[in-house]
Amino acid sequence: MKAIQIQQTGGPEVLELVDLPIPVPGPGQVLIRIETTGLNFIEIYFRKGQYKAALPIVPGSEAAGTVEELGPGVQGFSAGELVASTAVIGSYAEYALVPAAQLVKVPAGLSPEKAAAAMLQGMTAHYLAYSTYPLKSGETALIHAGAGGVGLLLTQIAKRIGARVITTVSTAAKAELSREAGADEVILYSEQDFEVEVKRLTDGKGVDVVYDSVGKTTFEKSLNCIRPRGMLALFGGSSGAVPPFDPIQLSGKGSLYLTRPTLWHYIATRAELEQRAGEVLGWAASGELKLRTEHIYPLHEAAQAQTDMEERKTTGKILLEP
Ligand code: NDP
Repeated sequence: MKAIQIQQTGGPEVLELVDLPIPVPGPGQVLIRIETTGLNFIEIYFRKGQYKAALPIVPGSEAAGTVEELGPGVQGFSAGELVASTAVIGSYAEYALVPAAQLVKVPAGLSPEKAAAAMLQGMTAHYLAYSTYPLKSGETALIHAGAGGVGLLLTQIAKRIGARVITTVSTAAKAELSREAGADEVILYSEQDFEVEVKRLTDGKGVDVVYDSVGKTTFEKSLNCIRPRGMLALFGGSSGAVPPFDPIQLSGKGSLYLTRPTLWHYIATRAELEQRAGEVLGWAASGELKLRTEHIYPLHEAAQAQTDMEERKTTGKILLEP
């Protein structure tokens, strides 16, 4: 099968197209034929060596595909079914193994592209808005990178709950997309000081929660935008890692809560995975959750796809198709 492999960490050029044997499912595993792979920023961290992995490795963890073969002991799935997962073992490939415990069925009427696009970013937006800081109607959220993959979905979910949404984006075109997703106020943080703008838009009160995936360049000002006892949910570092931080600052800024959540702890049980994936895929199938999937690259252009993601050229979801 064709796959993208990394032999050594580095720039996009280390993503090489290779021929590998089709893997054989072990106990509890399912072999899927991949229809669409979802790209995520974390694969760039692994490629660069910022996150460590034993090499060589086929990157990627999110995909939708059809069931090809069940490993020993697997029940509940059958060959040919459309399924999706965020725990694929190397999804930059034509075939890959998935632990059956991490696999979900795709509801009727939802394409593999939409399913792959919805899973990781959709469940992330879901846990952030419903579990990390359970947003309530009438509250105000600040969402950074509002035109990004998670940003567009989180905005829609926050609006669905009835919250007021302020987003930040870097360009006028992205501002338009963020507004289309439902943002009430959009700040061009490339031109305006978002802290000043948030204070102006909230009459100096600050927001109830900041969902911050940008990290290094936004962290400090994000803390300054929060009302007393509000929360900073720092869930990514697209601009780089946040430097070491003294928790006493949380006290000075209003007894704030700071959390650094990750999806895996919010889909740790089968029940929670099924509930989150079921809602997100269900909303995607009914059209209630709009997914942008205009960036689809062939598998062999994985390096270009990652480059475009890193250079902030894309909006919504980036997909690879074998
Ligand atoms: P996005 O589509 O949001 O892409 C990243 C965006 O970040 C860019 O489009 C850009 O938007 C903004 N950005 C700001 N500064 C920079 C910079 N210096 N370099 C690159 N981008 C920058 O990606 P995703 O939606 O896939 O993921 C968003 C973040 O959330 C990532 O950091 C990812 O690792 C994290 N994540 C965390 C999860 C968790 O559970 N903790 C799960 C899923 C994702 P703009 O141009 O408007 O500034």
